[in-house]
Amino acid sequence: MKKLKSYWWQSHPDEEHGLAVVHYNIREAKSMAYSHWGSEIGFDDVEFTDQTIKWQKDVDLSKLKDKTPHVIDDYKEGLILGMYSFIEGENDCDKCGMCMDYVSQENVINDEIICDDCLEKGDSNE
Ligand SMILES: [Zn+2]
Repeated sequence: MKKLKSYWWQSHPDEEHGLAVVHYNIREAKSMAYSHWGSEIGFDDVEFTDQTIKWQKDVDLSKLKDKTPHVIDDYKEGLILGMYSFIEGENDCDKCGMCMDYVSQENVINDEIICDDCLEKGDSNE
């Protein structure tokens, strides 16, 4: 049986941003990420030969909602699963609803994303 794996794709080795993608093998993951990037962002700044991809061995895919090959464009899900080390954009704190522009692994607690304010309050209550 084919098993899904988690991959980390970058348009260029020096690029900080990238895409998490789940697929059965690295070759198909690479072409899926590349065409997703092209349709969302454009091919202008990415050469096919510059792209890099690697297997993320430590990701537990059992909690993945969609078990078919796809690019993880639900960034919050990807962050919680550990595929993204940080995400940018508008994400709400699961405790207070405050909108955050930047969320890192430090904000992930028990499969929820928690803002820095709530994290501090949580600490002081203990
Ligand atoms: Zn909060």
